[in-house]
Amino acid sequence: MRILVLNAGSSSLKYELFDNLESVASGVVEHIGEPGGVKDHEAALEMAEKRLVEGGFLESFARLDGIGHRVVHGGERFVAPTRIDETVVEAIRELIPLAPLHNPANLQGIESMAKKAPGVPQVAVFDTAFHQTMPKEAWLYAIPTEFYERDGLRRYGFHGTSHHYVAKEAAKRLGKPLDACNLVTMHLGNGASLCAVWEGQSVDTSMGFTPLAGLVMGTRSGDIDPEIPIWMMKRGIDADKVLNKQSGLKGLCGDNDLRRIEERAAGGDAKSKTALKVYVHRIRHYLGAYIAQLGRVDAVVFTAGVGEHSVLVRQMVCEGLEPLGLFLDTEKNLRGEAVISAENSPVGIFVIPTDEEKEIAVQTEAVIGR
Ligand code: ADP
Repeated sequence: MRILVLNAGSSSLKYELFDNLESVASGVVEHIGEPGGVKDHEAALEMAEKRLVEGGFLESFARLDGIGHRVVHGGERFVAPTRIDETVVEAIRELIPLAPLHNPANLQGIESMAKKAPGVPQVAVFDTAFHQTMPKEAWLYAIPTEFYERDGLRRYGFHGTSHHYVAKEAAKRLGKPLDACNLVTMHLGNGASLCAVWEGQSVDTSMGFTPLAGLVMGTRSGDIDPEIPIWMMKRGIDADKVLNKQSGLKGLCGDNDLRRIEERAAGGDAKSKTALKVYVHRIRHYLGAYIAQLGRVDAVVFTAGVGEHSVLVRQMVCEGLEPLGLFLDTEKNLRGEAVISAENSPVGIFVIPTDEEKEIAVQTEAVIGR
């Protein structure tokens, strides 16, 4: 089965071709809709198709067995990957107010592909879907309920495809079915979130109504006193821009690349040292909360750019958590092994590379095969 996975952003299009779930080719088209760049998503898809055809990977998009789309927001309606038809397209469109930057781009990808490869089944895999199992007390905000009932203001959570994928991989490592596993999964990339997994299902996550909530990220503030944006707006400051683009690690030390921050901190730069501490402090805040919420934890999982590669962050996150059952083996951590907990650690500490595209391909095949 040949499945093309598409991740359409507002100005970029990432694609990866899978043949029987093995990745055979991937690429990205950037500068879509920018002056001097690619005209639109349709033109971007044409470029992607041309590259795949010229590379000898494919005869044309029309010959694919399926197309899997990453769709950011599925609201409360989509709790699982879904075969795309007219009704689904309309529903994704109706969810635009909840994801004004992302859902329109995802839709463009879907609609352009429908034109280019009519008849090839398309599947939407939602970033929010995995978290739809959260209990109400975890997703309802303590604001007047009409804001939820009328406007849909609630915690949705994101990165669901990644949390789900690493949870499944962790279950394999534990030698148990996923629905017997309690986990805390930590997706630490440019965007970052933690997820509490109870018997294989998401029961809490640190992102909220938008991906701005929770952890300190590359350029996003994560949790702050909700009065702060109000304070900014009263002074005419663009709070949206400050909190989404100029905050997080970047706001704290001028850089959003954790590798460089580690280097600077090692060289004695005070702001970089502080940024690292604030970053880790917030992760530990959620980790502790989720361990308390779960009661029994089989394993915690580090994933995404920072989680997979930063020996220092993993070490700082696990420091002193032996009373909670987390015993880190510093040597294994240094070597970047798949299991970095000590032999007798009651809670496993795993490093699992995430692969959202692969998971989308898996889900797409499953939906098509139904
Ligand atoms: P995205 O959310 O854009 O997919 P990634 O998951 O690739 O991001 O994570 C990017 C982050 O991972 C960057 O901050 C980068 O510095 C960090 N990172 C990558 N490799 C390392 C490393 N070896 N040590 C520390 N941080 C790393």
